[in-house]
Amino acid sequence: MVYSEKYTSWTRDDILTEVKSKMKIQRFEHILRVEKSALELAQRYKGNLEACSLAAILHDYAKELPKETMDSIVQEEQWNPEILQYGSQIWHGPAGAYFAEKKFGITDETILTAIRDHTIGSEKMSLTGKILFVADYIEPGRKFPGVQNARALAMESLDQAVMFKITQTIIHLVEKGILVYPETLTVYNAWVRNKEEIY
Ligand code: FE
Ligand code: FE
Repeated sequence: MVYSEKYTSWTRDDILTEVKSKMKIQRFEHILRVEKSALELAQRYKGNLEACSLAAILHDYAKELPKETMDSIVQEEQWNPEILQYGSQIWHGPAGAYFAEKKFGITDETILTAIRDHTIGSEKMSLTGKILFVADYIEPGRKFPGVQNARALAMESLDQAVMFKITQTIIHLVEKGILVYPETLTVYNAWVRNKEEIY
């Protein structure tokens, strides 16, 4: 994959080297599998291959960064500090978008938003956003119960796969007694309201 100038001046290899240096090998391999799944979905649903590749290889860049890094980004960008309470599981999305822009020079809002929202989804997702959101969930390394369902749905309807992930994620959090980031429920409600359009 060669990226056009309008997206980034970095090569894919240089991005991968940098990404790899910031995380455990297992997570890096996850990222490569997400990219592969994202490109397959992009082919199927006529998405933008370059945008999907970039969003995929950068989506978890911030996942293993120390909390102090996130603290300073929240200060610098004047984000609502509430996000810090929900852990890196939630904040690595916005932090990833921050680095995609500041470090890798990406200005394309569709890519940045796809990365920012990949953890909780959003009310209105772009095609690239939906592809990343679903690819992250169904990549071949995923083993959770229901993943076969999710993969089958993704082949039929991207929207149904997005809805499935949103729903299953909330069920999982509630079952495990984990805090639900309020925005997650807002996203869920929005997708439930849109249901008639999806099914
Ligand atoms: Fe992630
Ligand atoms: Fe991921």
